[in-house]
Amino acid sequence: FFKKSIDKIKAALAKTKKIAELFQIGRKIDEAFLEDLEERLIMADVGLDTTKYLIDALKSSYKDKEIKEKDQILTFLKENLKERLTQKGNELKLNEDGPTVILVIGVNGSGKTTSIAKLAHHFVQQDKKVLLGAGDTFRAAAIDQLEIWAERIGIDIVKHKMGSDPAAVAFDAVQAALSRESDIIIIDTAGRLHTQKNLMKELQKIHNVLKKKIPEAPHEVLLILDATIGQNAITQAELFSAATPITGIFLSKLDGTAKGGVVLAIQNQLDIPVKFIGLGEKCEDMEAFDSEQFVDALLS
Ligand code: GDP
Repeated sequence: FFKKSIDKIKAALAKTKKIAELFQIGRKIDEAFLEDLEERLIMADVGLDTTKYLIDALKSSYKDKEIKEKDQILTFLKENLKERLTQKGNELKLNEDGPTVILVIGVNGSGKTTSIAKLAHHFVQQDKKVLLGAGDTFRAAAIDQLEIWAERIGIDIVKHKMGSDPAAVAFDAVQAALSRESDIIIIDTAGRLHTQKNLMKELQKIHNVLKKKIPEAPHEVLLILDATIGQNAITQAELFSAATPITGIFLSKLDGTAKGGVVLAIQNQLDIPVKFIGLGEKCEDMEAFDSEQFVDALLS
């Protein structure tokens, strides 16, 4: 199973492969090699700080003649990147005594609806009973799309009509989940960052309503970030963080981007763990984030 998912991540990272490629072509180790590596790390959106740290360390080891082989550089990169990515808390917090409530936030187009479907499918695979709350009442399409996914996956959805109060949807979703004995409730929200004050109010209201039914809810607030926007994802995360506490990041669209290194930048610059990665458009195209696996896939 582990092997299968690492191959999937490797395939998804194909466009970020420029780093690994450098080690596969017959190049000798010299200053130019390290400069080329630096450029490739930057192009992959690993982040300037991390890149500078890695390249400075490598250059000084090279000058001291400690590094002679490509394999030594690769090992150094792997160890360092794994160390940077390893942190506590990238497991999902589950409620032991009742339904787990997951609130999902993110801008429109980030892959929010698809990522919710992926999460739902993931839990259904684990024999959990899942219920969706169509809390993005701002867009009719968001409600429709979520309903299509719910039908496809075979799970319940609670929805109101477009324009209704998202907190009322959240309330009804929790109520339904409690009476139907669901294990997981995933609640969508509107992704309107440009009205940050409203967003903050709306999310606060949802929080309050949830807490009335389940005091510790939401157990998770997942922010969907689109990996293809690279470093801009950091700015987006900072804006959302100002509106609500975030417990984890779901990094969507890691496939098809040359900026897969952004996982490192996110981890380095934000104090929020990446919990899931999206690797395609289908509901199976998701992996729980594993730092060792990710670095191995990135550099092999
Ligand atoms: P929303 O507006 O944020 O709800 O975004 P959607 O879920 O509708 O996704 C927007 C587009 O991104 C759709 O075409 C999805 O199929 C696509 N998408 C979402 N997640 C992924 C992913 O992990 N990989 C790829 N390649 N496409 C994705």
